[in-house]
Amino acid sequence: MIFMELYRTKISDIDPSSPIRTVRLKDGRTIRKVVDKSIIKRGRKSDIRSYVQIFLLTITLWIGIDFYLFVSGLEKGVVTYRPPGVEGFLPISSLMSLRYYLLTGVLSHVHPAGFFILVAAIMVSMLMKKGFCSWICPVGFISESMHQLGNKIFGRSFRLPRFLDVALRPVKYLLLAFFLVTISMLSVSQLGQFLNSDYNKVADIKLYFFFVHISDFSLTVIGILIVLSVLYENFWCRYACPYGALLGLTSLFSPMKVRRIEESCIDCGKCAEVCPSLLPVDKLDQVNSAECTGCYSCVEACPIRDTLKFSVSSGSKGLSQRRYGILMLALFFGIIGLAMISGFWTTSITGREYLYLFRKIGALGHSF
Ligand code: SF4
Ligand code: SF4
Repeated sequence: MIFMELYRTKISDIDPSSPIRTVRLKDGRTIRKVVDKSIIKRGRKSDIRSYVQIFLLTITLWIGIDFYLFVSGLEKGVVTYRPPGVEGFLPISSLMSLRYYLLTGVLSHVHPAGFFILVAAIMVSMLMKKGFCSWICPVGFISESMHQLGNKIFGRSFRLPRFLDVALRPVKYLLLAFFLVTISMLSVSQLGQFLNSDYNKVADIKLYFFFVHISDFSLTVIGILIVLSVLYENFWCRYACPYGALLGLTSLFSPMKVRRIEESCIDCGKCAEVCPSLLPVDKLDQVNSAECTGCYSCVEACPIRDTLKFSVSSGSKGLSQRRYGILMLALFFGIIGLAMISGFWTTSITGREYLYLFRKIGALGHSF
């Protein structure tokens, strides 16, 4: 690193055409100064990610309303439209379905939409970092919005002490490990038994009733998480979400990542300042971390053109936020679209079966 600093200083000092000069201060420190203002970015920062988040939250609310009408219908003994997208809220069942598919090559038709949503999220993270978390996930968006509200109320952002941050960060990986180990211990027949069980068939309705008749304890836990999310940026995503932990691990394979061009970096630190994952972007050549959500905050904050980019290699052109969003949504909804076209999107549970299971839903439990 010291060698690089000397090398960089030398290059910019002897090259009069360089748009950036290294200046030595009286106290011996060196700073990087822009001498050619044409390399400074112009124009407004892109808000495209916020629009995508609002759009996807609207779709989620729509699914929620449809599902509410579906359950209300069952209460009256009528079967109405059930939105398959609701299965996106059954990640454990989807993970079991994925393992069952990997072991047997057979796709469970109980909650196939949940399976495809999980596969689409994993594919996105394997190719484009954890973009699902900062662009698509409604929980991530709500958590982000609550923090912005907190910033407005308190006029500042809070940060946990470093020791607590380090101690809490593994929690989501431990939760993920618990689910993965539990699922991996099940045999193929046990997986199949669970996936086809009455409990799994109505797991979405059970989840609905969990929130409708929420216990005081659960309400307190959610209340605490809301307060913590208002105070600390991405609290839920950063410390507690096992789904995000899974996508973070798969995102380590992503060829696309944030890369910094050291030659034109002026060491202003703005990229690190805005990073919601608290990554030292200004010190890295490329961001390999499993915590990077592809949010583009750092790329947008960098004042020097083409210095921080989201790209597949350091030599290749960076992807603009808009193009990244389009590509990621195309990949995510492309997988879902394929499932719809090929007829694998909707559940095999019939209306008559729903009515039958709904009548005894209180007595249904799982065996694992
Ligand atoms: S600010 Fe940059 S490094 Fe930090 S999470 Fe967002 S894209 Fe990744
Ligand atoms: S924002 Fe980061 S990458 Fe851009 S010039 Fe400043 S320190 Fe360098």
